[in-house]
Amino acid sequence: VFMTLLGAATASGLTVLVLILVEATYVLLPAHIKFGIVFDAGSSHTSLFVYQWPANKEKDTGVVSQALACQIEGPGISSYASDPALAGESLRGCLEEALALIPKTQHQETPTFLGATAGMRLLRQKNSSQARDILAAVSQVLSEFPVDFWGARILDGQDEGAFAWITINYVLGMLIKYSFGEWILPEEGTQVGALDLGGASTQISFVPRGPILDQSTQATFLLYGANYRIYTHSHLCFGRDQMLSRLLARLAQVRLDSQAALVRHPCYHSGYRVTQSLAPLYESPCVHFTAPMNFTQSLVVEGTGNPGACVAAIRGLFNFSSCKGREDCAFNGVYQPPVHGQFYAFSNFYYTFHFLNLTARQSLSTINATIWEFCQRPWKLVEANYPGQERWLPNYCASGLYILTLLLEGYGFSEDTWPGVQFQKQAGGMDIGWTLGYMLNLTGMIPAEAPTEGRAQSY
Ligand code: AMP
Repeated sequence: VFMTLLGAATASGLTVLVLILVEATYVLLPAHIKFGIVFDAGSSHTSLFVYQWPANKEKDTGVVSQALACQIEGPGISSYASDPALAGESLRGCLEEALALIPKTQHQETPTFLGATAGMRLLRQKNSSQARDILAAVSQVLSEFPVDFWGARILDGQDEGAFAWITINYVLGMLIKYSFGEWILPEEGTQVGALDLGGASTQISFVPRGPILDQSTQATFLLYGANYRIYTHSHLCFGRDQMLSRLLARLAQVRLDSQAALVRHPCYHSGYRVTQSLAPLYESPCVHFTAPMNFTQSLVVEGTGNPGACVAAIRGLFNFSSCKGREDCAFNGVYQPPVHGQFYAFSNFYYTFHFLNLTARQSLSTINATIWEFCQRPWKLVEANYPGQERWLPNYCASGLYILTLLLEGYGFSEDTWPGVQFQKQAGGMDIGWTLGYMLNLTGMIPAEAPTEGRAQSY
């Protein structure tokens, strides 16, 4: 087309004009964009993320952006044990939405992944064939779509923490920088740590100041020519939903032993009352109490709004004595070097602190006082003040106090290190989590060597 136009134009003496037009058309053509799709199959629900980046730039830093976050309706895939096919079906709507966004010609070359986390880890522990059936069902549905499907798998806890660490540091531009015409590695120690509170597990990942003495908690990467060595650990059964179940089972155990079906719960607001079936509680592999004889019985849970007693009950979920006198131990005997540097706290850390208006930097005593005051508010008042938020409302008191216990007494944050913790859900327009790091890693988009030429792109 170019040659024909040029020939015709030369004949009519308009060469220069046509050249300008051809050049302008070329420049205005949209750059070729590539896409990737990741499903985050969490314990409480599944999300789908679509990432995009300019073609031929995949090895540059900071070029990936989030094009879509779609929330799949219904519970997490691990809840479909009795009907695995439905787990696969539940994913269709969001994937169709993602494909509507991606040009048809690129569907076949769009890498698509599904990673399942602690909900599926727990199900695998309890019944591995059910977990296998669910993965097979979701793989079956995803492979029907015209995408480059790389498979569905259960991430182990270490990967979940390590990929979230890569995500946040990639998005913040902490892995490599372009400055005054050259690539420079950010100073050691400027990378941020990642704190993730999911439904079934919680992860902590950071670069410690000193050595990592337990190799099973270490992850190493070579990214853009720099070696990283991070501490990462996932505490299974310490996610928000499992913590709530364990807490209730503990309190119920005490009461049921004394033949009462009523549980007076200090972490719920006074005047709050709910009837709950007992069976799902004792089915969780995180709940170690044995079910009472009358297993089908339901419980009446009544709030007493007592933050002091709530903290005491929450402490009972941790084994602190196994770490007594050890600086390099978190809880339940788990090795952890002292926390060091800046941290981003996301997922339920963020949801809870955002609701309680605690995401701005505040002193620990103010934060503590705010949560205690909230816990002591009568349920009637809380309900009236936050219309339309019934779904999460009853549990913000428990999760607020749990977060303080976990971060301060569990991980060992103190008055000095607390200001380094930032409660945030997003950075650079991207949701913080393991999904981006997972895709970057699997597609080889973070090279081991530093770039030799070209400019980094920044947000
Ligand atoms: P997710 O990050 O979706 O795995 O959620 C982590 C935990 O937060 C789970 O226990 C969810 O039930 C809970 N959760 C999800 N969304 C919210 C929200 N908007 N407010 C409070 N808790 C939430």
